[in-house]
Amino acid sequence: MKRGAIVMPQPYKNLDGSLVRSGRFGLIGYRQDIREPGRIAFTIAHELGHWELHPYHSQAIACTAGDIAAYKGSGIEQEANAFAAELLMPTPMLAKTLRYASPTIQLAIEVAATFGTSLTAAAIRVVELIDCPAIVVLSSDNRVSWAVSSPKARPYYSVKRGDRVEGGALAWNCLTELDELEQPETVDASTWFSRDRDAQRLEVWEQSAVLGDYDLVLSIVSFDEL
Ligand SMILES: [Zn+2]
Repeated sequence: MKRGAIVMPQPYKNLDGSLVRSGRFGLIGYRQDIREPGRIAFTIAHELGHWELHPYHSQAIACTAGDIAAYKGSGIEQEANAFAAELLMPTPMLAKTLRYASPTIQLAIEVAATFGTSLTAAAIRVVELIDCPAIVVLSSDNRVSWAVSSPKARPYYSVKRGDRVEGGALAWNCLTELDELEQPETVDASTWFSRDRDAQRLEVWEQSAVLGDYDLVLSIVSFDEL
């Protein structure tokens, strides 16, 4: 409200968030049946990102769950996500804690709870700021929906949207719930890095869990060169 926009829940079916702009007045909407407060907060922060960053782009912006959670879509969606992540989980507040931590889903759960944001957004933030090679992967029906790598992960060890989740991965047909998670397990390097010639030199750990009712599997894959 201080920035000129008000927030209201909306009876959306296919959208998670929206921004309507009329001069200096903005209306931010979020889908009223999103249950997790952290996901609502991230959605609002994402729309606030459009409000602040894209005043000349369009007078009405509609954002799907994919735009907001999935780090895909057009450049403005990625900019709004980066804005929301920095607003809710400021680098200076997180960087020290994360620098020497291990990339685990438990850590992402902790970050999400501390900063009041969604688990996927927190998991992305963890791998973005952590000081070791790691990749956060979201998959559905054993296909990668999106993946975000840490700056320490060399680009040729990568997981890409559309990749198949291999049988040896914990993410494959995963039934593990978040509250049943144990420590990361070692998996065969070729499971996640089949396209990379040198991948056999990697020691790879993985954690995977199903996300609530969303039929999605969240994985954190971390690795070290042997
Ligand atoms: Zn958006």
